[in-house]
This record gives sequence, C-alpha cells and structure tokens, in this order.
Amino acid sequence: MKKKGNKIQRIRGYALALVFIGMGIMYLGVFFRESPIIFSIFLIVGLLPIMLSFIIYFWVGMISTRTVTVQCPNCEKHTKILGHVDFCQHCKEPLTIDKELEGQDFSLDYNVEHRRNQAIDEINKETGQTDRPQDK
Ligand SMILES: [Zn+2]
Repeated sequence: MKKKGNKIQRIRGYALALVFIGMGIMYLGVFFRESPIIFSIFLIVGLLPIMLSFIIYFWVGMISTRTVTVQCPNCEKHTKILGHVDFCQHCKEPLTIDKELEGQDFSLDYNVEHRRNQAIDEINKETGQTDRPQDK
C-alpha cells in the first residue's frame, strides 16, 4: 500500500492530476481536427476535469481555514492538521490533536467521530478512567 501523506497535500495532488487529465483529453482532440464537432467535444470534455480541479482548489482554500497549525514533535517544523488525525507535511509523522489518542496506535478511524469516541472509551477503560470529556 502507498504511504499516505498529509491530507491537504493529497487533495492538491488530485487536483493537479485532473488538470493534466483535462489537458490530455484536449490534446487528443488535435487528432480529430478535420471534424470540428468531435474536436469541440474533446475540448469541452477536457475542460470539465480542469474546472473540477479549480473547484477542488477553491474548496481546499476554504477547508484550509479550519486546519490547526502545530509544531511536529518529530521534525520540529510547523504543519497543518486537517481533522483529528493527519500526517506531518514534512516527515509524514502521524499526528493527532486529541490528547486521549496520544501514543496510541495510529488509525484513520479516528477521523470518524463515533469510532474515535469508541476508541477513547476503550482507552479510558484500560486506564481506569470512566468519564471522558464531552464533545461540545
Ligand atoms: Zn514532521
């Protein structure tokens, strides 16, 4: 399995790939220059992934405001965390903003709220704590 990277970087990577896919489709249209209809179909179809990538870039810009900037304990650089667990942008160290999950085996399940609460419950049970701070 491919090593997972920082979420925002991954989304940006997909958006960039869409631009190249769109350009590739448009380029294929060049082979149908004799037929203006097919040529314009290729141009329009090629434009769709490029427009989609612009929407993704716009969306990344919006969700970037919800990220938490932390100093990575591993490489000591500043990195953005999206959601409750994410990877460091520089050294791919898994990071969490939940104190309860610190030092636990890393799982992307912790991005899903009920699974995260379940995991926190289990951790608290193991350590003898029964109450967990309620989510506000
Ligand atoms: Zn790091």
